[in-house]
Amino acid sequence: MLFKCSVCGYIHEGPEAPEKCPKCGAEKDKFTALTEEEAKKVLMSVRTNDIHMEIVKLANKLKALAEEGIKIDLDPPCVALFKQAVEEATVIKQRSKAEIAGHVSRGKW
Ligand SMILES: [Zn+2]
Repeated sequence: MLFKCSVCGYIHEGPEAPEKCPKCGAEKDKFTALTEEEAKKVLMSVRTNDIHMEIVKLANKLKALAEEGIKIDLDPPCVALFKQAVEEATVIKQRSKAEIAGHVSRGKW
């Protein structure tokens, strides 16, 4: 079951609420059990945000690879392609980060 701290929004997973909130220190009675539907949404949000974070990591890797390619400077078409890849990787990264920020502000995390 999932329990949510009504003070800070911390989500606890277990058979019952924790004695104290590990984030804000609120007592056990500040936790409310989420309904099955609410819990499903939380789990979907958790997975979706993890996917966004993984995409951000991959975009960083892509950007680093493309920058290495630019440095090697084999020929102009390669450099042009790598420069474009750097721009595209940045867009992918920023888009996922903006989406995560949007989720957090709407309580989906
Ligand atoms: Zn708390």
